[in-house]
Amino acid sequence: MSPIRIAIVGFGKIARDQHVPAIAATDGVSLAAVASRNASLPDVPHFATIEQLLRDGTPIDAVALCTPPQVRRSQAAAALEAGKHVMLEKPPGASVAELDPLIAQAAHAGRTLFATWHSRFAPAVEPARRWLASRRISSVTINWKEDVRVWHPGQGWIWEPGGLGVFDPGINALSILTRILPQPLFVTAAELSFPANREAPIAAQLSMTDAAGLPITAEFDFRQTGPQSWDILIETDGGPLKLSGGGARLIAGGEVLVDAEAEEYRGLYRRFVELTATGTSDVDLTPLRLVADAFMLGRRRIVAAFEE
Ligand code: NAP
Repeated sequence: MSPIRIAIVGFGKIARDQHVPAIAATDGVSLAAVASRNASLPDVPHFATIEQLLRDGTPIDAVALCTPPQVRRSQAAAALEAGKHVMLEKPPGASVAELDPLIAQAAHAGRTLFATWHSRFAPAVEPARRWLASRRISSVTINWKEDVRVWHPGQGWIWEPGGLGVFDPGINALSILTRILPQPLFVTAAELSFPANREAPIAAQLSMTDAAGLPITAEFDFRQTGPQSWDILIETDGGPLKLSGGGARLIAGGEVLVDAEAEEYRGLYRRFVELTATGTSDVDLTPLRLVADAFMLGRRRIVAAFEE
């Protein structure tokens, strides 16, 4: 079968760091175009906008939308309208309900809509899920703390409504949590710290639970300097399980079970190839719903202004 010809839309940090190398390393996909207002790649057809790409562009089968969440819905709708498969970076949208018409549009067109959660493709996530399946869990503690100046330099959109602030990385933890625990989870309380000069939180504390009352806490913070924390600690009747490095390492029952380089984006593209073969969609909104509920229930605190 000929490879899926993909156009990357929004050529920023994640497109450059992950999508380009993952496309190059994955059978069944090829990079056919870039649509970005200010960036391009040598020898790859370039368009300033997705509209120009779809109207005039080189033949493509799919788009990978690597733009900020606030502009992705209309881009996805335009691509589906033009008969293209769509891969959405996380979070899949700036709101939960805006995904519904896209899901319906993709089904109607027989095209794939893939809402990616890259952290679920980290090497320790599936082993953690399997290890937990036969244990009784008594508590979950998430620590997801990173330095926004290092990981999101100059990304003004992250501080705007719909940009999610600290939930931009925090939702990765929630995507792992909702993969490794099989039961439905929900938010019971949240505290959100908004810088005085910003429209999105710089830190958040969440309390979550399940129908049986499992205590789950999450601390997200963008002000972490020094060592960074992307950890989930789960107490069980078989001893503690620790997922660290964003899902790269797993220690459980006193043993190191996984310690591997993350190749999350190759996994995403392999999955995209599978889905497009049948025009099937994969859109799980569970992590986004938890974030929306944290905003709905969250007490707001105003904290020191944030300057880059
Ligand atoms: P980024 O560096 O700001 O890149 C996004 C690109 O989208 C920009 O370079 C810009 O390119 C384009 N863009 C920005 N605003 C736009 C607008 N209003 N309309 C159209 N295009 C616009 O951001 P990023 O870090 O790559 O993140 C993009 C998405 O990937 C986010 O949802 C993020 O959560 C996700 N993600 C990021 C990371 C990471 O480590 N950075 C990891 C995983 C997932 P032009 O100016 O050239 O148009």
